[in-house]
Amino acid sequence: MKVVLCLMAVLGAVAAQEYSPHPKLKVQEKDSGDAPSWGYGGEGNPVNWYKDYLQCGGKRQSPVNLPYVGELLKAPNRGRPLVFHYYNALNPARLVQSSKNFDFVFTGSDEYAPVVSGVGFNPSDKYQFAGLHLHWGSVDSNGAEHTLDGHTFPGEMHFVHFNKKYGSVENAINQPDGLVVIGFFLEISSQSMPGLTKMAKGLHQMRATYQTELDLGDMSLLEFIKGYIYNWKYYYYQGSLTTPPCSESVQWHVFPVPVPISRADLEVLRQFPTVKENFSDNNRPIQNLNGRKITYDGLVVSRDKPWLPENFKHSPSNEVY
Ligand SMILES: [Zn+2]
Repeated sequence: MKVVLCLMAVLGAVAAQEYSPHPKLKVQEKDSGDAPSWGYGGEGNPVNWYKDYLQCGGKRQSPVNLPYVGELLKAPNRGRPLVFHYYNALNPARLVQSSKNFDFVFTGSDEYAPVVSGVGFNPSDKYQFAGLHLHWGSVDSNGAEHTLDGHTFPGEMHFVHFNKKYGSVENAINQPDGLVVIGFFLEISSQSMPGLTKMAKGLHQMRATYQTELDLGDMSLLEFIKGYIYNWKYYYYQGSLTTPPCSESVQWHVFPVPVPISRADLEVLRQFPTVKENFSDNNRPIQNLNGRKITYDGLVVSRDKPWLPENFKHSPSNEVY
């Protein structure tokens, strides 16, 4: 029993550190030193995560491949819309470097903290924003965690939320309805979303000045995704955190239309935190579905064999309304 309790304490510490939510939700720094190391290469690579983090070998893991839904993109809405509250609210924003990534968090009061509702598991529950982070590759052909009918993107953006009834990420992380992550693919374009450009400028400054935290001033989450929220048109499935402890507590909502990022901003990511040592290729490989259902706009779209990609182009011109 003692061993189990110790392990749980370690897992909790890693989760809170990795997702580094609101400062109020952080655990003591001393706890994080006990956690076994993990990474994306060498001994600590994703295939071995389960040895130290049992849940990483579970049956409800993320990311997964999302099936092609081309003809459904323009179909009338039939599922349930995700509802975004305060995604347009300005809150004091901060970048915080973590062990394998960085987090974009808000440091103000909870009063205007962004919230989503209408989520797949508990439509009436409210999930509060805890932090935003990215996954990206060292080359354009790698970076995103989920794949879209086998197609990969150079990056993926994750908005992590906790169920308000549990009060914090730490308390929610082991509950089946504890977390909601909203994912957007990133695609290279001539211009970035404004939020991504501000983020890249901040990361560039952190690298130049050897800082691990940086205030960005007041920002809203809409700056990252304005024009790309199609409330009904998302994939939904039950999965996990894509980093240890891989807790199977995440309701995943992934939008198929990618958000643009400029090559210049992507290069800043690729050189963070330093040119010699960077966090690129911080994406976990695809996990087995193990019979789970994936829905898109309320319809079950998971199947044994993927649909043929045909001529589907991943661009904002694929209007989904
Ligand atoms: Zn993530």
